[in-house]
Amino acid sequence: MIDIASSSFSSSWRMYFFASSRLLTVSASDLFFIIKSFYFFSHLLSLFLSIWHKMNINATKTLLDDIKHIYIHVPFCDGKCNYCSFYSIKKNPANTKLYLNSLEQEIIKTTGGTKLNPFTIYIGGGSPSLLNSSELKQFLKIIKNNFDLSNLKEWTFEVNPSSACSTILYLLKENGINRISIGVQSFSDKTLSKLGRRYNNNSIHAAICLIKEFSFDNFNIDLIAAVPGTSEQEWKNDLYAAINYGPSHMSVYTLSIEEGSLLQKMFLTGKWRKENEITEIKRINTAEKFLRKHGLRRYEISNYSQKDCECIHNVAFWEGKDYLGFGPSAVSRIQNMRLTNPSSLETWAKIVQNAPFSQETELLSWAKDSAERIGFAFRLLKKPVNPLLFTKENSIFFDSWNKIITELISQKIIMKKNNGYVLTKRGVNFADYVASLFINNVE
Ligand code: SF4
Repeated sequence: MIDIASSSFSSSWRMYFFASSRLLTVSASDLFFIIKSFYFFSHLLSLFLSIWHKMNINATKTLLDDIKHIYIHVPFCDGKCNYCSFYSIKKNPANTKLYLNSLEQEIIKTTGGTKLNPFTIYIGGGSPSLLNSSELKQFLKIIKNNFDLSNLKEWTFEVNPSSACSTILYLLKENGINRISIGVQSFSDKTLSKLGRRYNNNSIHAAICLIKEFSFDNFNIDLIAAVPGTSEQEWKNDLYAAINYGPSHMSVYTLSIEEGSLLQKMFLTGKWRKENEITEIKRINTAEKFLRKHGLRRYEISNYSQKDCECIHNVAFWEGKDYLGFGPSAVSRIQNMRLTNPSSLETWAKIVQNAPFSQETELLSWAKDSAERIGFAFRLLKKPVNPLLFTKENSIFFDSWNKIITELISQKIIMKKNNGYVLTKRGVNFADYVASLFINNVE
């Protein structure tokens, strides 16, 4: 900003005002006054903008300080599983370098260099365990340099059976990772090949033995239930094999045909059939009974754990807590903003280099924000949800939400518990329906 009153206000500028005054038929002194006023207000405006900007930085900083959950997406996989719709690419030295450099930039630019103090960090993908030892060292250093880990309760790292090795697990242990999630999906080679997974039962066994050898007591096994063509007995074999390794946590999903996945193409060309819903429910019921018998209690629609071993990161997500996501395709939720990174390493990296933030921002209405959080909250089976306490303003949707609650109670899908509602035994199979009722109501 030019200081109009200072001695540096050069004679050539005075000449310019003078010449202009001739053209505009106002006196040079009037024009000088007009421009001086303009600069005065510019100064004022500039001052206002800088205070506003600072207030926003402070507001943003406060918002970010409140975020206690971090997700980092590592986009590399050694191939594509048939059912997968996550963003993943094959790894090479150049794209790994680009990823690691951009990740650090993204964290620094998003946090403004302030070290956030998370309770949980979740490293997912992709297959994070594909990073080789020097890449993993750099990756962990980025996290340690840019976050304050003094209050960290849970640090999860996803491991793929095909890439788990002692070097990686040693580094994870040494650097404070305290929870491993291994994507087994099935212990049967036949089922693994149907799913397009690229390892076999022997590699699973070797990987889990290593996890135990490095004393990761808190570890999760992912399984997929009701893969078409598998029998009830084969499913029980999978459950039995998993529980024999003594996991503290298990996630059990049914297959869904995702947009853009190979499975979708196979389905559309008649090369894949969907399993019917009744069989899916039966397999999940088998899992629930079996796992309960072995000390893993179902606490969320797809998750089971030993006492006090629930995944803190995911529980926070279902409880509607804010979180920050880094890496291509990662999503952040800050109050009623949803920020989504591009699902392309190159596009994400380019945006990270050039702009302070790399995300596309979607501003949700408070009602939509609340409706989404209510939908997720019902997934936690023991924790009562009171939809009317969710919204941050007097919502015009109170009446219609009350109607939804009454209807769901009459359908025996939810029931009253303490000061809220939980899914009934029957309602557990209708969690998506419950969420859709609240979300569709505000759209
Ligand atoms: S390993 Fe996971 S992220 Fe990679 S292709 Fe398979 S399902 Fe997708």
